[in-house]
Amino acid sequence: MKNNIITYRGRIAPTPTGHLHLGHAQTFWIAAKRASDSGGKLIYRSEDLDYQRCKQEYHESAIDDLHWLGIKWNEGPDIGGPYKPYTQSERKNRYRKVFKELQLRGFVYPCKCSRKDVAEATTAPHKSGSEPLYPGTCSPINNQGQDIIPNKKDKINWRFRIPEGEYIEFEDGYFGAQRYLTNKDFGDFVIWRHDDIPSYQLAVVTDDHDMQITEVVRGADLLKCTARQILLYRALEWSIPKFYHCPLVTDLNGQRLAKRSNALSLLSMRKSGLSAQSIINNFELKNIE
Ligand code: GLU
Repeated sequence: MKNNIITYRGRIAPTPTGHLHLGHAQTFWIAAKRASDSGGKLIYRSEDLDYQRCKQEYHESAIDDLHWLGIKWNEGPDIGGPYKPYTQSERKNRYRKVFKELQLRGFVYPCKCSRKDVAEATTAPHKSGSEPLYPGTCSPINNQGQDIIPNKKDKINWRFRIPEGEYIEFEDGYFGAQRYLTNKDFGDFVIWRHDDIPSYQLAVVTDDHDMQITEVVRGADLLKCTARQILLYRALEWSIPKFYHCPLVTDLNGQRLAKRSNALSLLSMRKSGLSAQSIINNFELKNIE
């Protein structure tokens, strides 16, 4: 039975494309702590939409790693719950409905540009490591108000039309006031991919809304995505949750941890005999007031 009184509902949302590392551990541990400190619920959601890279093996090892760390959730793919399914690959019909709703509301247009086209059409020099800004080649704004007419062989991505030159602002629970400018910090973004997969932005907003998440806790690498997601919430007239982005864990060279660097995987730490408590103590010391 669904509870009508909304208390704190947080979530952890691993993508099973590799073993979890210290960075995930810290984020998920903070998420769990914020849920339990608020007397709320924690939801585990598996973000496995990228069928080419996601593996069952990683999903199972994430669950084992998080149990080992002492993180407990109230709803999830392994235990079910009132908002199931908690696995994104099983929720595609729902995402398609939301996509159609956005289309109906006039926020979506087809785009035949490949990644290479976007990179080449980018005129403004962008910082190394930052993504190219989509210049709006296929936007109706640049095509006499009309959608482009694709050829049979075109690979069509569907893009969300952002408002022009507008500041998107939000208060982050950890980093404070945030502000991103549309068409400068990001352009019209893909919400449905040419290979028939919903984008991360669309799936995550749909799930956080449907699962009645009140606070989204995740890594600071997703701060800019939050601005994009706020635009989706607005377009759908859904209420916007709170956000708390966690600082990223870096290695000794100051590089952000990636799933590729196996040395710092939780699995390898667990196997080497390190205790979960010694890892958690480190988070507590550095990041939680
Ligand atoms: N699935 C994403 C990840 O593993 C997290 C997305 C989110 O928390 O919004 O990095």
